[in-house]
Amino acid sequence: MRELETLRELSARIGGNPLLVQASSGNTSIKVDDVLWIKASGKWLIHAEDDDFLVSVKLLKARRCLREDTAISETETKSPGTRGASIETAMHAVLPQKVVVHVHSVNTIAWAVREDGPRQLSARLTGLPWQWIPYTPSGTSLARKIDYALRCFPQTSVLVLGNHGLVVCGNSCRSTEQLLNEVEQRLAVEPRTAPEPKYPQLMQTLSASAWSLPPCEGVHALATDHISRRILSGGVLYPCQAIFLPEIVNMLASSVSFQERCGQRGYLGQPALLVIEDHGVLAGKHMTRAEEEMLVGLVNVVQRIDASAPVRYLTASELTHVLSLESENYRQTADINCHAKGSDAL
Ligand SMILES: [Zn+2]
Repeated sequence: MRELETLRELSARIGGNPLLVQASSGNTSIKVDDVLWIKASGKWLIHAEDDDFLVSVKLLKARRCLREDTAISETETKSPGTRGASIETAMHAVLPQKVVVHVHSVNTIAWAVREDGPRQLSARLTGLPWQWIPYTPSGTSLARKIDYALRCFPQTSVLVLGNHGLVVCGNSCRSTEQLLNEVEQRLAVEPRTAPEPKYPQLMQTLSASAWSLPPCEGVHALATDHISRRILSGGVLYPCQAIFLPEIVNMLASSVSFQERCGQRGYLGQPALLVIEDHGVLAGKHMTRAEEEMLVGLVNVVQRIDASAPVRYLTASELTHVLSLESENYRQTADINCHAKGSDAL
């Protein structure tokens, strides 16, 4: 089906842009007749050519499930062993446009983590049919909030999700991509430059440990840029940070000693990350491809948050919800997928 091919091409282009998505984040869909074709759970957009990238869901049934508060199932078309539909299927189903693209755009998130986000964005997005959706957990809660917002302004085609990301919709892949590019242009922020890492000191630590240099030089900004350190030590900015990089906040707290930082462990008990103030960042040798991409995404976000911005962090109850079993499954799926793909994701 040509329309599905066009969606795959668009998805792969988006997936290849680290400023738009990282690892398995983001999702795309297209409605054809009464069927919603959507990215399968845990798939990476950059691998949109894979046979199991898309799953189909009966659109009317998906909307009915949301109304009746029952799980949306793709089982009618799902063969054993295939993946389920994206966690955001309900959101895609309630949006009336043919094509829906959800991304974790670093430019958008840099605005979406601000208390004054709606005010800041109203000037930048003026003339576009956009709405701000305050932070709501992914899944049916988010879909309901968007459904409600659409009742007031049905023509909405740009949604900025507080502490989360961006949704753009259109009646073709082409028009949706054009709108995404326009929003990206309007929300673009020049990242702060950070002092250079101190490689001699880093190499000293490196030689006697299980650490390695991070995948991208820009990551050192976490340690060398005091504004970024301050912002990140204040709390968790968005769900993917909580899921993939849970140790960052503690690591940047000034009360944590160097020895304690060396002892920080990732979710599988392996060293994940070491931030050495003013010197740079070292990555644990067991850091997954998904964690690497999320780390680069986090640096790209935080370097775009103004020093004076009033940052809105996830609350304790929001974090608890994010770190529920469902989120753990989400990460494991992403990691399995990542290992299956090797190191060619970027
Ligand atoms: Zn998302």
